[in-house]
Amino acid sequence: MQTTMDALVKTERGKGLTLSRVPVPVPQRGEVLIKIHKTAICGTDVHIYNWDPWSEKNIIPPMTIGHEYVGEIAALGEGVTDYTLGQRVSGEGHIVCGHCRNCLSGNGHWCKFTKGVGVNRDGAFAEYLCIPSANVRPVPEDISEEIVSFFDAYGNAVHTATEFNVTGEDVLITGAGPIGVMAAGICRHNGARRVVVTDVNPYRLSLAKKMGASAVVNPVEQSLENIMREQGLVEGFDVGLEMSGSGAAFNQMLRTMRNGGKVALLGLLAPGTVIDWDNVIFKGLTLQGIYGRKLFETWYKMIAMIQSGLDLSPVITHRFHYTEFNQGFEAMNSGMSGKVILDWNK
Ligand code: NAD
Ligand code: ZN
Repeated sequence: MQTTMDALVKTERGKGLTLSRVPVPVPQRGEVLIKIHKTAICGTDVHIYNWDPWSEKNIIPPMTIGHEYVGEIAALGEGVTDYTLGQRVSGEGHIVCGHCRNCLSGNGHWCKFTKGVGVNRDGAFAEYLCIPSANVRPVPEDISEEIVSFFDAYGNAVHTATEFNVTGEDVLITGAGPIGVMAAGICRHNGARRVVVTDVNPYRLSLAKKMGASAVVNPVEQSLENIMREQGLVEGFDVGLEMSGSGAAFNQMLRTMRNGGKVALLGLLAPGTVIDWDNVIFKGLTLQGIYGRKLFETWYKMIAMIQSGLDLSPVITHRFHYTEFNQGFEAMNSGMSGKVILDWNK
């Protein structure tokens, strides 16, 4: 087997990534080596590529980045018996401690000691990735590799969109990034009556429409309240999924929720974001923060929903070879993109 490989490495503090030759990791006890077939670019990767203030604080170069991927088992570390060589897998990007109170109660997504693949340790934008076997997720062959390549982000959408029951409900999704767009499809699949999606980017609103949104709204140009009337909403939205990270969008959501409504918050709101608490307290709203994916209930539903007919293909807008990674990041930075996939076949 080869001993060195290509990888996209943040070699130093600053903008960009370098396609480098690095050693192939050797799986230690309890770990597996995955040969990467395809990866997808996440917003977090874009932050690291652009070297924004969050990256400045959290990323320690040199490090291979990336955490959305599909591949096959290439080697098993000592003591790993659950997987076979060549088996098709993806993996959970949060490596949790396994013995804190939350981990032991089945709430590993709230583990205080989480380490992120491609954030706190070498990631998946490489020919090979090494992770603990507990993080490996086998994925059936009837789901296309392109779709599996962004299961991590799809999992964020599933976790948020299944936090509250949407069957027969009217749902507002603020933010039509890749995750909001997928959430629109998930809500329709799960029987929501109306799914209204807002974004300030028309390209992204068109993706939400393709994924089955009942109506899309650009709040800069249109009145959400008018669209609600057109859609037959009387008391407001029953369920809100905040997926923009915009304080303006979150406040608009709080204003348009019905009394007793439920809001799941995935978008990362800026520190100091101000809301009108009257809209929470007098309306009796429930607010739930969402982090990552439930281990591993979300993964179970992700696979099951695709097998029951959920089609995520409209969210894929760009495909590049890994050597063209700069074009991939350019597409992500342009805002004129959904999921951008990098192929790691030679
Ligand atoms: P994204 O940045 O691609 O999408 C956000 C969208 O919100 C953009 O299309 C943007 O145009 C839109 N937006 C901006 N202002 C708006 C406004 N006023 N009204 C409506 N829309 C507005 O992000 P993504 O990758 O789809 O992820 C969605 C959010 O979830 C991001 O904030 C991301 O940081 C966050 N996130 C959180 C977790 C978690 O575990 N909590 C995991 C992944 C992503
Ligand atoms: Zn833990």
